[in-house]
Amino acid sequence: MLTDNLEKVLENEPKFRRKQAMQAVFLDLAKNWEENSTLPKDLREKLNQECSLEIAGEVESSKGGDSQKALVRISSSEAVEAVLLRHSDGRNTVCVSSQVGCPMGCVFCASGKIKNKRNLTSGEIVAQVLFFERRIRESENGKVTNVVYMGIGEPFLNYGNVMLAARLINNKDGLNIGARHISISTCGIIPEIEKFALEPEQFNLAVSLHAPNQEIRESLMPIAKKYPLEDLILATRKYAQKTSRQVMFEYVLIDGVNDTQECAEELSRLMKHHLFVLNLIRYNSTGSFRPSPLEKIKKFREILEKNGVRVTQRHSFGGGISGACGQLAGEKGRA
Ligand code: SAH
Repeated sequence: MLTDNLEKVLENEPKFRRKQAMQAVFLDLAKNWEENSTLPKDLREKLNQECSLEIAGEVESSKGGDSQKALVRISSSEAVEAVLLRHSDGRNTVCVSSQVGCPMGCVFCASGKIKNKRNLTSGEIVAQVLFFERRIRESENGKVTNVVYMGIGEPFLNYGNVMLAARLINNKDGLNIGARHISISTCGIIPEIEKFALEPEQFNLAVSLHAPNQEIRESLMPIAKKYPLEDLILATRKYAQKTSRQVMFEYVLIDGVNDTQECAEELSRLMKHHLFVLNLIRYNSTGSFRPSPLEKIKKFREILEKNGVRVTQRHSFGGGISGACGQLAGEKGRA
């Protein structure tokens, strides 16, 4: 799809063809290579066969219009979900999926219920962003400004393609979105956090934490058995030290599970690092658990702030379209 076979097709072409092709895809937002007039006809035909620019998708908008969920078709039998979040300050964030289905098995998350599982190619990841880029350009001459890997799948289990896609999104000849506006979220795969620390670009790292201690984390996220909390915190401290970049920890507040005052105190101790920021997220119901009551969330946040932790709270987008975090399950259009 899209750029996946581009290098192969352009292998024996002069170098400048690559730039022209990239421009057709990312700047002109061509939907068919025939729209392009700079590339020779036989090459356009080949590109149409090998690097189709067609991105089909169905869109659902939320009531307030602050988000749109799209089911983007990646093959005749598969589709992935991507979400566009429209912020009041003008940012347009696309939340992309990195895998079809998710093998991590976090007990509170709907994404694990998808049966077919495979890694997405870089073209299939980029297609989700391009889908919305085309839509916003057509309707209001706008642009996608931010990309977050917080849809379906574990990006660090698909490290190579995720990084390739992030680079295409970041590249000047690609979508030209600043590295600082691209965030990759992981459930805590330590070797890839270490690898990520060595990448030259300033992409952001987000870590799904969801628990203040090993016992609770293990009960929610099977990956915690393989990569214990203590090691995860150590790896993120090293990442912060090496890159001098902030790390965002995501913490979903689930009623009676991880939202007590003791949890807040324990969490405060883990978060003691000047580059750590905690993002509190209200749990979006997917059936198995209940979200924490707002009063409890307020108290939880107060304890953390009293202990000097930098806390942000995620505005919950997309609940009305099952497009909120953890609700993406590709209900429709799967094989
Ligand atoms: N696998 C990666 C990328 C997914 S990001 C990761 O775990 O970070 C999606 C985020 O939404 C994760 O932090 C995930 O834990 C969180 N999430 C999952 N289910 C949720 C739910 N029902 N309500 C709110 N957030 C949820």
